[in-house]
Amino acid sequence: RGTVRFEDVRFAYIPSRPILKGVSFEVPAGQTVAIVGPSGAGKSTLSRLLFRFYEPQGGRILIDGQDISAIRQDALRAAIGMVPQDTVLFNDTIGYNIRYGRWEASEAEVREAARSAQIDRFIESLPEGYDTPVGERGLKLSGGEKQRVAIARTILKGPPILVLDEATSALDSFTERDIQTALDRVSQGRTTLVIAHRLSTVVNADAILVLDHGRIVERGDHTTLLARN
Ligand code: ADP
Ligand code: ADP
Repeated sequence: RGTVRFEDVRFAYIPSRPILKGVSFEVPAGQTVAIVGPSGAGKSTLSRLLFRFYEPQGGRILIDGQDISAIRQDALRAAIGMVPQDTVLFNDTIGYNIRYGRWEASEAEVREAARSAQIDRFIESLPEGYDTPVGERGLKLSGGEKQRVAIARTILKGPPILVLDEATSALDSFTERDIQTALDRVSQGRTTLVIAHRLSTVVNADAILVLDHGRIVERGDHTTLLARN
């Protein structure tokens, strides 16, 4: 389960300026589809619609054949995990931040998720800026480490569907490769929608869609798209 389908989806923030002009694609259950395209193409808007932050003005979005407008918000949030571009951490320990979204998880499960994402050494630490009254200082995590927290959170939550939003764009190339490996592992067996600027970050996708000015202008796999571009 976990098939995601966009059918002729249209959306505008401002009526005079359509952002998505009839976008259709399917991510079959368990597969990875990447949406690439220039900044401003409407990629993040697609993921916002999938989370129902906004409603499409035309067309529909289906999960396993069900229109998402008929799915309760809490069920939708349970079904979809997100690893964002910038992970904002809450004012509590890294362990608490990993638990966010699945409060009933046991201590051992949190630890296991942290270990899989290789962030377990920080589990008791507080994030930077959140110093305790007794003078304990928060820890400055790098961009890659924050992403590992988001990855651990997603592993723990275990949603069938995953959205990765330009997940490695802000990292140096060593960290990027490292995080990519962790992300490939989390997306294993899950329906995954990757939002990316560059073809180079989506080598492993089953299909790649190029979005430009609100339309899908090309579809293919990594090899065919590289050959054409
Ligand atoms: P064109 O091929 O002329 O660019 P479009 O496919 O963009 O046409 O639009 C077809 C119709 O759908 C037009 O009436 C347009 O205003 C409307 N439309 C397109 N995209 C959106 C959108 N995102 N929101 C609302 N209406 C849209
Ligand atoms: P991408 O993720 O491909 O860079 P976005 O989906 O973020 O593109 O944005 C597509 C277009 O929609 C951009 O022109 C952006 O300025 C515009 N846009 C994004 N969010 C809003 C908003 N909340 N209100 C109005 N316009 C927006």
